[in-house]
Amino acid sequence: MEVLHRRNWHPTAEEVHGLVRQRAPGISLGTVYRNLDILARGGFIQAIEGAGLQRRYDGNPVPHFHFQCKRCGEMHDMEPRENWMPPPLKDCPGFRITGFRLLFEGYCPKCAPLSGDDRTRE
Ligand SMILES: [Zn+2]
Ligand SMILES: [Zn+2]
Repeated sequence: MEVLHRRNWHPTAEEVHGLVRQRAPGISLGTVYRNLDILARGGFIQAIEGAGLQRRYDGNPVPHFHFQCKRCGEMHDMEPRENWMPPPLKDCPGFRITGFRLLFEGYCPKCAPLSGDDRTRE
């Protein structure tokens, strides 16, 4: 929990393992995975996953949105805006929607200047 409590940081299990190992040298990656999953299932942290994405963890359990850079892979928090809404329930008959996740993609401020031609293609 302590390792994850850095703002705007969304590490993979491997990255968490690297930091935890500095304090608990014997700890295995499997143990870190298991504990991250327990914390995520308990709602203490968030697991962020999507098709083709390596699962990342977020020490902030409050729902919020993310942006992932297509070039460096870094993930950033995005502040929710009023017009970012879940699908209206009436459009999804039979489904019980309990929340939604939104992952923006594109280029972070660091990478945007290096991705000029990609912008015109999209
Ligand atoms: Zn980037
Ligand atoms: Zn986040």
